[in-house]
Amino acid sequence: MSTPVIGVLALQGDVREHLTALSAAGAEARTVRRPAELDGVEGLVIPGGESTTMSKLAALFGMLEPLRERVRAGMPVYGTCAGMIMLAEKILDPRSGQETVGGIDMIVRRNAFGRQNESFEAAVEVDGVEGGPVEGVFIRAPWVESVGAEVRVLAEYGGHVVAVRQGNALATSFHPELTGDHRLHRFFTDMVRSAR
Ligand code: GLN
Repeated sequence: MSTPVIGVLALQGDVREHLTALSAAGAEARTVRRPAELDGVEGLVIPGGESTTMSKLAALFGMLEPLRERVRAGMPVYGTCAGMIMLAEKILDPRSGQETVGGIDMIVRRNAFGRQNESFEAAVEVDGVEGGPVEGVFIRAPWVESVGAEVRVLAEYGGHVVAVRQGNALATSFHPELTGDHRLHRFFTDMVRSAR
């Protein structure tokens, strides 16, 4: 089977770390900024960063509608942190004008883990990821407030949902690309292969 071609949405955020992790997981990784580049990938990672800025840039680059269309059509997509927010159907506390791509029937709360605990690392057991918990890096991370019936909860931390999947869309509150543990990127690369 040929190598899956996976893009990383490169409007804003920690793009390079995802490219490295995807390559290590056996994918051909590319940056995606424009609709034509989106056409050339089989799956897409939406990185962490700042979801309000990412939303504005996506609109500016004419990417919002093409992204929505691909996700609706079943393209595998993986959002981490701000990327999770981009995949939410609804944000609890959006900034004015903040739009999302959608794809996962969930409501997320931005910066949910609070100021006193803005950044931390925690071992998180993720359903479907073998070999023990992954080290989750949480940076002003969102959590999932509630999910619809089609959404599978893959992980919780501190009583809050931090990883979910709906069909070909995957999202985690935390950053797995910063740890050198590529199991989640391998999990996503397998999702891209299965979607063929
Ligand atoms: N708090 C950021 C937001 O609302 C997300 C932080 C991150 O991606 N590390 O977009």
